Amino acid sequence: MPVKDKADFAKNILPFLADLEEDEAGPDPLLAAKRLGISPQDMVVLSRNENPYGPSPAARAALQDVPMHRYPDSRPFLEALSRYTGFFPPWLVTGAGMDEIISTICRIFLGPGDRALIPAPTYNLYALATGLCGARPFYQPRTASFAVNPDIPDGVKMVFLCSPNNPTSNALSEDNVQAVLDETDAIVFLDEAYVEFAGKSLAGLVREHQNLVVGRTLSKAFGLAGMRLGYAIAPPWIAEQYRRVAPMFSISSPSLAAGVAALQDLDWMRECVKRTVSERERMRERLPCALPSQANFLYLQTGPESRGIAEQLLK
Ligand code: PMP
Repeated sequence: MPVKDKADFAKNILPFLADLEEDEAGPDPLLAAKRLGISPQDMVVLSRNENPYGPSPAARAALQDVPMHRYPDSRPFLEALSRYTGFFPPWLVTGAGMDEIISTICRIFLGPGDRALIPAPTYNLYALATGLCGARPFYQPRTASFAVNPDIPDGVKMVFLCSPNNPTSNALSEDNVQAVLDETDAIVFLDEAYVEFAGKSLAGLVREHQNLVVGRTLSKAFGLAGMRLGYAIAPPWIAEQYRRVAPMFSISSPSLAAGVAALQDLDWMRECVKRTVSERERMRERLPCALPSQANFLYLQTGPESRGIAEQLLK
Protein backbone atom coordinates (compact mmCIF):
# COMPACT_ATOMS: atom_id res chain seq x y z
CA MET A 1 0.00 0.00 0.00
CA PRO A 2 1.42 3.45 -0.88
CA VAL A 3 1.86 5.72 2.14
CA LYS A 4 -0.83 8.37 2.10
CA ASP A 5 0.13 11.97 2.68
CA LYS A 6 -1.67 15.06 4.01
CA ALA A 7 -3.41 15.82 0.70
CA ASP A 8 -5.27 12.51 0.81
CA PHE A 9 -6.89 13.55 4.07
CA ALA A 10 -7.09 17.34 3.62
CA LYS A 11 -9.86 16.75 1.06
CA ASN A 12 -12.13 16.09 4.07
CA ILE A 13 -11.85 19.70 5.32
CA LEU A 14 -15.09 21.66 5.00
CA PRO A 15 -14.85 23.49 1.63
CA PHE A 16 -16.08 26.85 3.00
CA LEU A 17 -12.92 27.18 5.10
CA ALA A 18 -10.90 27.79 1.93
CA ASP A 19 -12.90 30.99 1.24
CA LEU A 20 -12.38 32.56 4.67
CA GLU A 21 -9.92 35.37 5.13
CA GLU A 22 -7.11 34.89 7.63
CA ASP A 23 -7.39 36.75 10.93
CA GLU A 24 -4.81 39.51 10.43
CA ALA A 25 -3.73 41.17 13.65
CA GLY A 26 -0.44 42.58 12.40
CA PRO A 27 3.03 41.19 12.96
CA ASP A 28 3.99 39.10 15.97
CA PRO A 29 5.06 41.67 18.63
CA LEU A 30 8.11 39.64 19.73
CA LEU A 31 9.38 39.21 16.18
CA ALA A 32 8.72 42.89 15.42
CA ALA A 33 10.64 44.00 18.54
CA LYS A 34 13.58 41.81 17.52
CA ARG A 35 13.55 43.11 13.96
CA LEU A 36 13.44 46.76 15.09
CA GLY A 37 16.06 46.17 17.79
CA ILE A 38 13.92 47.28 20.72
CA SER A 39 12.96 45.51 23.91
CA PRO A 40 9.46 43.95 23.96
CA GLN A 41 8.84 45.76 27.29
CA ASP A 42 9.16 49.08 25.48
CA MET A 43 6.46 48.18 23.01
CA VAL A 44 2.77 48.95 23.40
CA VAL A 45 0.86 46.37 21.38
CA LEU A 46 -2.31 47.88 19.89
CA SER A 47 -3.10 45.49 17.05
CA ARG A 48 -5.74 43.42 18.84
CA ASN A 49 -7.69 46.41 20.13
CA GLU A 50 -7.09 45.51 23.76
CA ASN A 51 -6.79 47.98 26.64
CA PRO A 52 -3.03 48.65 26.99
CA TYR A 53 -3.54 50.07 30.51
CA GLY A 54 -4.77 46.70 31.79
CA PRO A 55 -7.58 45.92 34.21
CA SER A 56 -8.47 47.48 37.54
CA PRO A 57 -5.92 46.44 40.23
CA ALA A 58 -8.96 45.03 42.08
CA ALA A 59 -9.29 42.38 39.34
CA ARG A 60 -5.80 41.04 40.02
CA ALA A 61 -6.33 41.16 43.80
CA ALA A 62 -9.56 39.15 43.45
CA LEU A 63 -7.62 36.14 42.15
CA GLN A 64 -6.17 35.43 45.61
CA ASP A 65 -9.14 33.73 47.23
CA VAL A 66 -10.66 31.76 44.37
CA PRO A 67 -11.75 28.24 45.35
CA MET A 68 -10.18 25.89 42.82
CA HIS A 69 -11.76 22.59 43.86
CA ARG A 70 -15.32 23.68 42.99
CA TYR A 71 -16.92 24.22 39.61
CA PRO A 72 -17.27 27.91 38.78
CA ASP A 73 -20.32 29.79 40.08
CA SER A 74 -21.31 32.47 37.59
CA ARG A 75 -24.08 34.03 39.70
CA PRO A 76 -22.00 36.85 41.28
CA PHE A 77 -20.78 37.76 37.78
CA LEU A 78 -24.35 37.83 36.48
CA GLU A 79 -25.41 40.05 39.37
CA ALA A 80 -22.51 42.43 38.71
CA LEU A 81 -23.46 42.50 35.02
CA SER A 82 -27.04 43.19 35.99
CA ARG A 83 -25.98 46.26 37.98
CA TYR A 84 -23.74 47.43 35.12
CA THR A 85 -26.25 46.95 32.30
CA GLY A 86 -29.56 47.62 34.07
CA PHE A 87 -30.95 44.26 32.85
CA PHE A 88 -32.13 41.53 35.26
CA PRO A 89 -30.20 38.20 35.18
CA PRO A 90 -32.88 36.35 33.12
CA TRP A 91 -31.95 38.72 30.28
CA LEU A 92 -28.21 38.00 30.57
CA VAL A 93 -26.01 35.14 29.39
CA THR A 94 -22.27 34.69 29.76
CA GLY A 95 -19.54 32.96 27.78
CA ALA A 96 -15.77 32.59 27.47
CA GLY A 97 -15.39 35.80 25.50
CA MET A 98 -17.91 37.16 23.07
CA ASP A 99 -16.46 34.78 20.51
CA GLU A 100 -18.03 31.88 22.42
CA ILE A 101 -21.31 33.78 22.67
CA ILE A 102 -21.37 34.31 18.90
CA SER A 103 -20.63 30.64 18.18
CA THR A 104 -23.29 29.48 20.65
CA ILE A 105 -25.99 31.81 19.32
CA CYS A 106 -25.24 30.56 15.81
CA ARG A 107 -25.69 26.98 16.98
CA ILE A 108 -29.18 27.85 18.26
CA PHE A 109 -30.41 29.41 15.03
CA LEU A 110 -28.32 28.24 12.07
CA GLY A 111 -28.26 24.83 10.43
CA PRO A 112 -27.24 23.36 7.09
CA GLY A 113 -28.54 25.42 4.16
CA ASP A 114 -29.51 28.47 6.25
CA ARG A 115 -28.27 31.95 5.39
CA ALA A 116 -26.89 34.69 7.63
CA LEU A 117 -26.56 38.29 6.48
CA ILE A 118 -23.16 39.84 7.10
CA PRO A 119 -22.64 43.51 6.17
CA ALA A 120 -19.06 43.70 4.82
CA PRO A 121 -16.48 44.59 5.92
CA THR A 122 -16.85 43.44 9.50
CA TYR A 123 -15.50 41.10 12.19
CA ASN A 124 -14.50 37.82 10.56
CA LEU A 125 -15.85 35.48 13.24
CA TYR A 126 -19.47 35.90 12.08
CA ALA A 127 -18.66 34.15 8.81
CA LEU A 128 -16.63 31.41 10.49
CA ALA A 129 -19.31 30.67 13.11
CA THR A 130 -21.97 30.68 10.38
CA GLY A 131 -20.01 28.29 8.20
CA LEU A 132 -19.24 25.93 11.07
CA CYS A 133 -23.00 25.47 11.53
CA GLY A 134 -23.30 24.44 7.88
CA ALA A 135 -24.97 27.77 7.04
CA ARG A 136 -23.85 30.24 4.36
CA PRO A 137 -22.87 33.89 4.83
CA PHE A 138 -24.66 36.37 2.60
CA TYR A 139 -22.31 39.36 2.33
CA GLN A 140 -23.97 42.69 1.78
CA PRO A 141 -21.86 45.79 1.04
CA ARG A 142 -22.23 48.73 3.44
CA THR A 143 -23.18 52.22 2.27
CA ALA A 144 -20.45 54.82 1.56
CA SER A 145 -20.61 55.91 5.21
CA PHE A 146 -20.42 52.27 6.40
CA ALA A 147 -24.06 52.15 7.51
CA VAL A 148 -25.97 48.89 7.00
CA ASN A 149 -28.30 48.53 4.05
CA PRO A 150 -31.65 47.70 5.67
CA ASP A 151 -32.95 45.68 2.70
CA ILE A 152 -32.73 42.25 4.27
CA PRO A 153 -33.51 39.44 1.81
CA ASP A 154 -36.30 37.03 2.76
CA GLY A 155 -35.27 33.75 4.29
CA VAL A 156 -32.22 35.09 6.12
CA LYS A 157 -32.16 33.55 9.63
CA MET A 158 -29.56 35.75 11.30
CA VAL A 159 -28.23 39.27 10.74
CA PHE A 160 -24.89 40.36 12.23
CA LEU A 161 -24.51 44.01 13.15
CA CYS A 162 -21.43 45.47 14.81
CA SER A 163 -21.40 48.89 16.43
CA PRO A 164 -18.82 50.38 16.60
CA ASN A 165 -17.86 48.20 13.67
CA ASN A 166 -14.57 46.35 13.47
CA PRO A 167 -12.73 47.40 11.27
CA THR A 168 -14.46 50.59 10.03
CA SER A 169 -14.71 52.09 13.58
CA ASN A 170 -18.10 53.80 13.03
CA ALA A 171 -21.11 53.31 15.28
CA LEU A 172 -24.48 52.54 13.68
CA SER A 173 -27.26 55.05 14.25
CA GLU A 174 -30.32 53.95 16.21
CA ASP A 175 -32.43 54.65 13.09
CA ASN A 176 -30.26 52.32 11.02
CA VAL A 177 -30.54 49.45 13.52
CA GLN A 178 -34.25 50.12 13.97
CA ALA A 179 -34.72 49.98 10.17
CA VAL A 180 -33.05 46.54 10.07
CA LEU A 181 -35.23 45.30 12.95
CA ASP A 182 -38.38 46.59 11.25
CA GLU A 183 -37.44 44.83 8.03
CA THR A 184 -36.71 41.29 9.19
CA ASP A 185 -37.96 38.23 11.09
CA ALA A 186 -34.38 37.05 11.50
CA ILE A 187 -32.47 37.01 14.78
CA VAL A 188 -30.37 40.18 14.86
CA PHE A 189 -27.06 39.95 16.71
CA LEU A 190 -25.66 43.38 17.56
CA ASP A 191 -22.00 43.22 18.60
CA GLU A 192 -21.16 46.02 21.04
CA ALA A 193 -17.59 44.93 21.90
CA TYR A 194 -16.39 48.54 21.67
CA VAL A 195 -19.47 50.29 23.02
CA GLU A 196 -17.76 51.87 26.03
CA PHE A 197 -15.58 53.92 23.66
CA ALA A 198 -18.63 55.16 21.76
CA GLY A 199 -20.50 56.16 24.87
CA LYS A 200 -23.92 55.25 23.46
CA SER A 201 -25.39 51.74 23.54
CA LEU A 202 -28.42 50.43 21.69
CA ALA A 203 -28.97 47.61 24.21
CA GLY A 204 -32.20 49.28 25.38
CA LEU A 205 -33.76 48.07 22.10
CA VAL A 206 -33.65 44.49 23.43
CA ARG A 207 -36.63 45.36 25.67
CA GLU A 208 -38.69 46.18 22.57
CA HIS A 209 -37.52 43.48 20.15
CA GLN A 210 -37.86 39.76 20.81
CA ASN A 211 -35.33 39.03 18.02
CA LEU A 212 -32.46 41.24 19.17
CA VAL A 213 -29.37 39.99 21.06
CA VAL A 214 -26.63 42.44 22.06
CA GLY A 215 -23.16 40.95 22.59
CA ARG A 216 -20.62 42.54 24.93
CA THR A 217 -17.16 41.76 26.30
CA LEU A 218 -14.79 42.64 29.14
CA SER A 219 -11.85 42.21 26.72
CA LYS A 220 -11.75 45.83 25.59
CA ALA A 221 -12.59 48.74 27.94
CA PHE A 222 -12.26 46.54 31.04
CA GLY A 223 -8.80 45.27 30.03
CA LEU A 224 -9.53 41.58 30.64
CA ALA A 225 -8.97 40.03 27.19
CA GLY A 226 -6.84 37.25 28.69
CA MET A 227 -9.59 36.22 31.09
CA ARG A 228 -12.15 35.51 28.32
CA LEU A 229 -15.27 37.19 29.68
CA GLY A 230 -18.17 37.80 27.33
CA TYR A 231 -21.86 38.32 27.89
CA ALA A 232 -25.00 39.10 25.97
CA ILE A 233 -28.25 40.89 26.67
CA ALA A 234 -31.06 38.83 25.17
CA PRO A 235 -34.84 38.46 25.48
CA PRO A 236 -35.45 35.79 28.15
CA TRP A 237 -36.75 33.23 25.60
CA ILE A 238 -33.43 33.36 23.74
CA ALA A 239 -31.41 33.45 26.99
CA GLU A 240 -33.19 30.23 28.06
CA GLN A 241 -32.25 28.47 24.82
CA TYR A 242 -28.71 29.77 25.22
CA ARG A 243 -28.36 28.23 28.68
CA ARG A 244 -29.52 24.86 27.30
CA VAL A 245 -26.95 24.86 24.50
CA ALA A 246 -23.90 26.64 25.97
CA PRO A 247 -21.10 24.80 27.77
CA MET A 248 -21.95 24.99 31.49
CA PHE A 249 -18.64 26.00 32.99
CA SER A 250 -16.71 27.65 30.19
CA ILE A 251 -15.67 30.70 32.24
CA SER A 252 -13.14 29.69 34.90
CA SER A 253 -13.45 30.75 38.55
CA PRO A 254 -10.46 33.16 38.43
CA SER A 255 -11.95 34.86 35.36
CA LEU A 256 -15.34 35.23 37.03
CA ALA A 257 -13.73 36.70 40.16
CA ALA A 258 -11.70 39.16 38.08
CA GLY A 259 -14.83 40.11 36.15
CA VAL A 260 -16.83 40.84 39.29
CA ALA A 261 -14.01 43.00 40.69
CA ALA A 262 -13.61 44.90 37.41
CA LEU A 263 -17.34 45.61 37.26
CA GLN A 264 -17.14 47.02 40.77
CA ASP A 265 -14.45 49.50 39.74
CA LEU A 266 -16.12 51.38 36.92
CA ASP A 267 -14.00 54.48 37.64
CA TRP A 268 -10.92 52.57 36.44
CA MET A 269 -12.65 51.48 33.24
CA ARG A 270 -13.94 55.00 32.56
CA GLU A 271 -10.50 56.50 33.11
CA CYS A 272 -9.01 54.00 30.63
CA VAL A 273 -11.68 54.90 28.11
CA LYS A 274 -10.99 58.62 28.57
CA ARG A 275 -7.25 58.19 28.06
CA THR A 276 -7.76 55.87 25.06
CA VAL A 277 -10.17 58.27 23.37
CA SER A 278 -7.77 61.16 23.92
CA GLU A 279 -4.84 59.14 22.47
CA ARG A 280 -7.04 58.03 19.57
CA GLU A 281 -7.83 61.65 18.69
CA ARG A 282 -4.16 62.65 19.04
CA MET A 283 -3.18 59.90 16.58
CA ARG A 284 -6.00 60.74 14.23
CA GLU A 285 -4.87 64.34 13.87
CA ARG A 286 -1.52 63.02 12.65
CA LEU A 287 -2.97 60.51 10.22
CA PRO A 288 -4.90 62.27 7.48
CA CYS A 289 -6.15 58.95 6.08
CA ALA A 290 -7.76 57.88 9.40
CA LEU A 291 -11.54 58.12 9.55
CA PRO A 292 -13.41 59.41 12.61
CA SER A 293 -13.55 56.55 15.13
CA GLN A 294 -15.97 55.66 17.90
CA ALA A 295 -13.85 52.70 19.00
CA ASN A 296 -10.34 52.19 20.47
CA PHE A 297 -8.73 51.78 17.04
CA LEU A 298 -8.43 53.73 13.80
CA TYR A 299 -9.49 52.72 10.31
CA LEU A 300 -7.11 54.04 7.68
CA GLN A 301 -8.11 54.49 4.06
CA THR A 302 -4.76 53.96 2.43
CA GLY A 303 -5.24 52.62 -1.08
CA PRO A 304 -2.64 50.15 -2.32
CA GLU A 305 0.09 51.69 -0.11
CA SER A 306 -1.10 50.04 3.10
CA ARG A 307 1.92 47.81 3.77
CA GLY A 308 4.35 50.72 3.66
CA ILE A 309 2.14 52.80 5.97
CA ALA A 310 1.81 49.88 8.40
CA GLU A 311 5.60 49.57 8.52
CA GLN A 312 6.03 53.32 9.12
CA LEU A 313 3.48 53.20 11.94
CA LEU A 314 5.19 50.20 13.48
CA LYS A 315 8.45 52.17 13.58
N1 PMP B 1 -16.49 41.32 18.52
C1 PMP B 1 -15.64 42.17 17.92
C2 PMP B 1 -16.18 43.19 16.97
C3 PMP B 1 -14.27 42.08 18.16
O1 PMP B 1 -13.43 42.92 17.54
C4 PMP B 1 -13.80 41.09 19.06
C5 PMP B 1 -12.35 40.91 19.38
N2 PMP B 1 -11.43 41.37 18.55
C6 PMP B 1 -14.72 40.24 19.65
C7 PMP B 1 -16.06 40.38 19.37
C8 PMP B 1 -14.30 39.12 20.55
O2 PMP B 1 -14.24 39.50 21.85
P1 PMP B 1 -13.86 38.47 23.00
O3 PMP B 1 -12.45 38.78 23.37
O4 PMP B 1 -14.82 38.80 24.07
O5 PMP B 1 -14.03 37.08 22.47
